[in-house]
Amino acid sequence: MNTPLKAPVLAVDHVVKRFGKTVAVNGLSLDIRENEFFALLGPSGCGKTTLLRMIAGFEVPDEGRIRLSGSDITEQAPEKRPLNLMFQSYALFPHMTVRQNLAYGLEMERLGKPEISARVEEMLKTTDLQALAGRKPAELSGGQKQRVALARALIKRPKVLLLDEPLGALDKKLREKMQLELKRLQHEVGITFIIVTHDQEEALVMADRVAVLKDGSILQCGTPEEVYERPANRFVAGFIGVMNFIEGEIGADALFRAGGEALACDLGGLKRDQKAVLAVRPENIALKPAGAGVSGTVVDVAYHGLDRQIYVKTALSTVPLQVRVAATGPGASAAQTGAVVSLGFDAATCRLFQD
Ligand code: ATP
Repeated sequence: MNTPLKAPVLAVDHVVKRFGKTVAVNGLSLDIRENEFFALLGPSGCGKTTLLRMIAGFEVPDEGRIRLSGSDITEQAPEKRPLNLMFQSYALFPHMTVRQNLAYGLEMERLGKPEISARVEEMLKTTDLQALAGRKPAELSGGQKQRVALARALIKRPKVLLLDEPLGALDKKLREKMQLELKRLQHEVGITFIIVTHDQEEALVMADRVAVLKDGSILQCGTPEEVYERPANRFVAGFIGVMNFIEGEIGADALFRAGGEALACDLGGLKRDQKAVLAVRPENIALKPAGAGVSGTVVDVAYHGLDRQIYVKTALSTVPLQVRVAATGPGASAAQTGAVVSLGFDAATCRLFQD
């Protein structure tokens, strides 16, 4: 028997938001489940911040409804909603210590001193900030400030925590560390996290599910594996990860043809005798013995530590194909400019699009 899906904690129902002639969010619907780590991912201007601001209550939709645990919150004031928004700028009080920053929100709720103190100490422990509790924000590193902002948002025990590009201000190394930390923390506190990011890697690493947005609409919503391995359309395929696109057509014989080559593919519901684009990831193109695949010449090699991305010119496309090869092992000799190689394509990992 399948495990029943958790009830949606947040339901966005046909929401529209316009700014003058700009349609920022275009009839968007979305269900986010309890304890889920959910990412809104998309290029700049796709409407993800506007959606988050409507969920937080800083913008009111022109159409549609938003429900939290079944209650309609569409027009409710932000401070009345049992959710919290963490800003990229952290918005910490500079004159207060870390401990005072954490206590502030609970003092505003007029909780008793013993309870405030107990919750602050517990949160300092959860976020590993005990040693820094007496410091002021100016005495903290970027990553530490980020952690304080997170602790301050979590201490109020919101049903949902909204995070707008929470790692945007951090350098690459710290970002990677904080991605794992955020994920661990979310798991530990068991609160629904909704994160806005334009960084696809970040979304894939952290989220249970990802919604890919473009022009105010969701193009695909699914687990990281689903959107990476089975992108629903050409935009998602190109937006997430590295993808090779090969323009061609599907023949009457159901083979994909480009540049005089023919590849077996899974057609799905696509039409024969029509143009199509084949999408294949660098790690899904195999190196074959000479003559056993599509022949090509290596025109460039990019070093990536454990493996290499080789650029192979073939008859399939004018743009060289990117192929991932291990630095050691049978394919290693292919990682040289000028090497002649033979490429293999597997129908199971090639996607065809006709839109
Ligand atoms: P980014 O990653 O750059 O922050 P985004 O995906 O978060 O982008 P939004 O900020 O939601 O995108 O903006 C969506 C669209 O709505 C954009 O075209 C933007 O210019 C427009 N927009 C957003 N806020 C306003 C506003 N207050 N007034 C007018 N237009 C706005």
